[in-house]
Amino acid sequence: MDYQSILENIFREIQPYAREGRQADYIPALAEVDPDRFGICLRLMDGQIFELGDSLTRFSIQSISKVFALSIAISLEGDEIWRRMGKEPSGSAFNSLVQLEYEKGIPRNPLINAGALVMADIMISRLPNPEEFFIEFVRKLCDSPSVDYNRRVADSELSTGYLNAAIANLLKYHHNINNGIDEVLRLYTLMCSVEMNCRELSQAFMCFAKSNEPFRHGGVELTKSRVKRINAIMQTCGFYDETGEFSFLVGLPGKSGVGGGIAAIYPSLYSIAVWSPRLNAKGNSIMGMKALELFTTETSESIF
Ligand code: GLN
Repeated sequence: MDYQSILENIFREIQPYAREGRQADYIPALAEVDPDRFGICLRLMDGQIFELGDSLTRFSIQSISKVFALSIAISLEGDEIWRRMGKEPSGSAFNSLVQLEYEKGIPRNPLINAGALVMADIMISRLPNPEEFFIEFVRKLCDSPSVDYNRRVADSELSTGYLNAAIANLLKYHHNINNGIDEVLRLYTLMCSVEMNCRELSQAFMCFAKSNEPFRHGGVELTKSRVKRINAIMQTCGFYDETGEFSFLVGLPGKSGVGGGIAAIYPSLYSIAVWSPRLNAKGNSIMGMKALELFTTETSESIF
């Protein structure tokens, strides 16, 4: 398959959407990002990569970090984590409070903000230095020692993160957070602030495509069965209240973030990362979703 020309065709085909939507600005530091960047990187099992555009420019991975937090939380707690959160699609926004109130402080799934706040709490309880542990784990996953938090973005989010603070308070009220709220919010926003480029992100997601070679690092073990579960959760919950649409159009397990990144995998075949900051109303990258839809259509390589 001539993947490089497929990527080039896709880039041409998505140009009509180039000015639709805008970058996230509820996190002040993200409003400064140039909205017209576009990068994509496809990585095959044998390590071959095909990329285009700004695939080497780092961006804020935001909610994509929830998949890495889930990998750690599942390894630390095993099935116990399902006492503290569900594994059903939320059908609501990533920062919705309503459902959490109805469901008495049990987040619908780990890939919405409430779920990730609980996972941050688990990491704080279990690890002597969760901040260090998380970034080391992510560096190992993407095989890039210079990947780091962007503390300015994290501080910027914390300074206006009233909704996440409300979610954390509701969780605490229902005894689903054991540590201090400020500490949990700090770790959560730091995890979201990690910056990677498409090449690094596609490498980080290889562990979810290659379940025959379990990834191990510092007590985190992504066994075949854990990878199966994480992929299932990405498939059903990775795009908030647009998860059905992503499944329908693209047909891959994946995860998006409000920085405009999307990472997705085809088990035993490839991982793919795309970045374009302009978002739709649900908080997902418009060009990113379109590019992946065209990619699985033109290659006939979707899991369905
Ligand atoms: N840090 C962002 C928030 O909590 C992450 C949201 C996202 O990427 N969907 O709002």
